[in-house]
Amino acid sequence: MSKFLEFRCDLENFIEELEALLANNTKAVALLLKQEQKTYASFVKPMQMMEEKLEHFFTPLSHLNAVNNSPKTQEIYTLSLPIITEYSTKLSQNIAIYTVYKDIFAQEKETLNYEQLRVLKLNIEHFELSGAHLDTETKKRLEEINVRKSTLTNNFSQNLLDATNAYEYIIEDEADIEGLPSSEIESAKFEIDGVTKYKFTLQMPSYIAYMTYGKNAKIREALYTAYVSRAPQNAKIIEELLSLKDEMSKLLGFTNYVAYSLASKMAQSQEDVLSFLDTLLQKSKKQAKKELIELQNIAPHKLKSFDTAFYSEILKKEQYDIDEEEYRVYFEQKSVVRGMFAFLEKLFGITFQSIEEDLWDEKASSYDVYVAGKLSARLYLDLEARESKRGGAWMHNYQTHCINEEGEEQLASAFVVCNFPSSSQTNPSLLRHDDVVTLFHEMGHAIHHMLSKVNENEVSGVNGVEWDAVEFPSQFLENFAYEPQVLRLFAKHHETGEIISDTMIDKLVRSKNFLSAMGMLRQLEFSIFDLQVHSGVFSENEVQDILNKIREETALIKTPDYNKFQNGFAHIFAGGYGAGYYSYKWAEVLSADAFYAVVDEGIFDSKTAQKYLKIILSCGGAKSMKELFKELMGRDAHADTLLRLNGIN
Ligand SMILES: [Zn+2]
Repeated sequence: MSKFLEFRCDLENFIEELEALLANNTKAVALLLKQEQKTYASFVKPMQMMEEKLEHFFTPLSHLNAVNNSPKTQEIYTLSLPIITEYSTKLSQNIAIYTVYKDIFAQEKETLNYEQLRVLKLNIEHFELSGAHLDTETKKRLEEINVRKSTLTNNFSQNLLDATNAYEYIIEDEADIEGLPSSEIESAKFEIDGVTKYKFTLQMPSYIAYMTYGKNAKIREALYTAYVSRAPQNAKIIEELLSLKDEMSKLLGFTNYVAYSLASKMAQSQEDVLSFLDTLLQKSKKQAKKELIELQNIAPHKLKSFDTAFYSEILKKEQYDIDEEEYRVYFEQKSVVRGMFAFLEKLFGITFQSIEEDLWDEKASSYDVYVAGKLSARLYLDLEARESKRGGAWMHNYQTHCINEEGEEQLASAFVVCNFPSSSQTNPSLLRHDDVVTLFHEMGHAIHHMLSKVNENEVSGVNGVEWDAVEFPSQFLENFAYEPQVLRLFAKHHETGEIISDTMIDKLVRSKNFLSAMGMLRQLEFSIFDLQVHSGVFSENEVQDILNKIREETALIKTPDYNKFQNGFAHIFAGGYGAGYYSYKWAEVLSADAFYAVVDEGIFDSKTAQKYLKIILSCGGAKSMKELFKELMGRDAHADTLLRLNGIN
């Protein structure tokens, strides 16, 4: 019998089957709670396996809806979401379950292994971070805060959207659009009373196009001014949001929102994160100043904020650009995939064996994955763009490695989905180098999930990994897509077989690191601001003061006073990144550090690579990444390695 589920999704009967499954689960939970003697084996394990089976049932639908979208998948997916949400909300508010977890933790603390203890710890933490364990009155206030917060974040986004849509700049003089790519000119073009005019807006592609290519500095200034002063009413929303987040954090027992946010992350404290960001800041400044001089040298006057994108583009074109077309002939999709498999085999000793099975699309393929000759996982690849597929690239986990209630080993599986150019009988799919990086990135997530050896599925693979560490394995792997030794394995001209030259590889790296220190400063400005502003309750003016003070350190070109960037910082005020924006840099440092350990050992005979497989990939979320990283490297991460990766010295 196959160790893997057959990919199947019966859309006709899906809702009925889902409802039956959930009704069964609800009954089963009630029975589990009624048991006289509740232990890890008799309570936690069956609860976990129930969730795992629900994943097995539901994942094919969400996967199909994303890769083979149709009115039918949309209809069933939309119908099923509220059903699933209601079920999981009920579970997460069932205080009896929380009490049982706490009791089992207390009773079996000495005998359970670290994987089981972490399952308990994360479940208990999950209940406590939502306040489900608090008294009725506090719970009521938390509920009010949540309702108000979601209204405010919604208003924040709406104001931003309205302001973005309310503005347009009409250009009548053709001289002002000179230098823009023809596709951008086409999208800006419209005709009125027989006259051709060009419209630019604050929406992303349009705004960026003019800021990058538009010659007329007056127009750039007008667009920039409009952009950075959008939604002034959001300043008051920020005030109220900060106050609510602070109150919520205190009700849950934390000193402030930063402490609340970090409670479930790898980073330990606000001081730790700030000092980490400050190290990067101090070490990037010198090079950022040099980069600014280089940029200033090609501009005829002193650079202003609305000039940087424009002159960066000119500098890049002149000295750092790569011609994507010149590269694509070296990256034929099938040969890239084979090369990536060969690379993983040489690095970790894992092998991939293609299998024949019917999947959702003829372009999709599947592979059995062997570690040291032992069947360990199944990988599904679906790499080409088609109309019915959502844009972007992602990894989606399907089965998770664990030992089930019967004591049998269950293997893991995962999907890697991309949107590369489609191939035909006559035309191969040729990738940009960026696409190769994307494939390595998603594969980094996939092997993190698939190569887990953990027995408890809630902390196996990518499950239970801290939010600020999840991108570590993906960025680790993507870094290899710039390494000459790795590229030479597969970057061969698809017609002549000629291997990519070192000069071409050098150019890729140079182009990747173009103005990297200036970019670093900007990201650090956002990250530091996010942490400081979430450390307490601040008025509109105080928020501005915090930002101004940070900019004294991070902004090499003085930011104009009318720039109210914070009112458009939706990531942290309307998205999930509040007191978490630093995570980008945090995971990059972990990945750069582990990457160089492998590179400095010569890549293919690296002991660190073997340790990476045994420690980071095998342990999934069963330990904090802080602990795992220490086991791997024998120390905490060094921020310097990220500077090295970005060519900052
Ligand atoms: Zn990722």
